[in-house]
Amino acid sequence: MLNWQWRNFEGIEYMTIPQWEEQGAPMLFAGRHAGNSTEPYSSLNMALHVGDEDKNVLENRKHVMKIFGSEINNMVCCEQVHGSGVAVVDKIHQGRGALDYSAALAGFDAMITNKSGLFLSLFFADCFPIFLFDPVKKAIAMVHSGWKGTIKKIVINAVESMKREYKVNPVDIQGFIGPGILRCCFEISDQLAESVNQEFPEFDEILSNNNGQYSWDLARTNYNLLLSAGLPGENILVSDLCTKCHNDKFFSYRAEAGKTGRMAAIIGLK
Ligand SMILES: [Zn+2]
Repeated sequence: MLNWQWRNFEGIEYMTIPQWEEQGAPMLFAGRHAGNSTEPYSSLNMALHVGDEDKNVLENRKHVMKIFGSEINNMVCCEQVHGSGVAVVDKIHQGRGALDYSAALAGFDAMITNKSGLFLSLFFADCFPIFLFDPVKKAIAMVHSGWKGTIKKIVINAVESMKREYKVNPVDIQGFIGPGILRCCFEISDQLAESVNQEFPEFDEILSNNNGQYSWDLARTNYNLLLSAGLPGENILVSDLCTKCHNDKFFSYRAEAGKTGRMAAIIGLK
């Protein structure tokens, strides 16, 4: 049974899946504290594109990479444009976007690799980090799925890319849907609710309506998408932590009116 747990490294609280580490895929989702950044990015802001001072972000990244016993130069980052593009990451991409946002892999919101020593790194405040790991073929994916990525079914693109590139069988893939904005806090317009209905007619219970106000369950939608991509339900772990409800622990775009930091979601292969 897949399970995540909280750990602490020199004050940094992070979530990890011990079983994946044992199988060769160390990963983490870090909380917002114990970093160098100041308001409104206090304090473990890991993203270079949100207006924070670069030097603080780089210090934060160096510190977080120590959790893996690794270095900032082994990170690989992509632009994160709320699209559905999946980058196939190779050794030549090592360090892309680690020190400089303009060098991040342009136009992508997900990355896959089967190369060891690379750490696929994406940054979050309410959108969902989705980690995929195939212990059989030793391949990983890191996916940024907010509402736009969910509508575009980016997580299916990631699984399809793993099948194409690494001959992965989806029944072997394990998935972790990390913290993001849950249905308790993700109220949407009637117009968007209509789009959700059109896009996912086969998914039950992803929309709820309370006194005329729609809410959308992005975690459940992505869970269903992973099922339809061929992952067995028992292989998919969902964190059930809402970033907006737990704004004390997590950065939340909605709770902080868009002016905040980003948390790191990172996975690598030993
Ligand atoms: Zn909530």
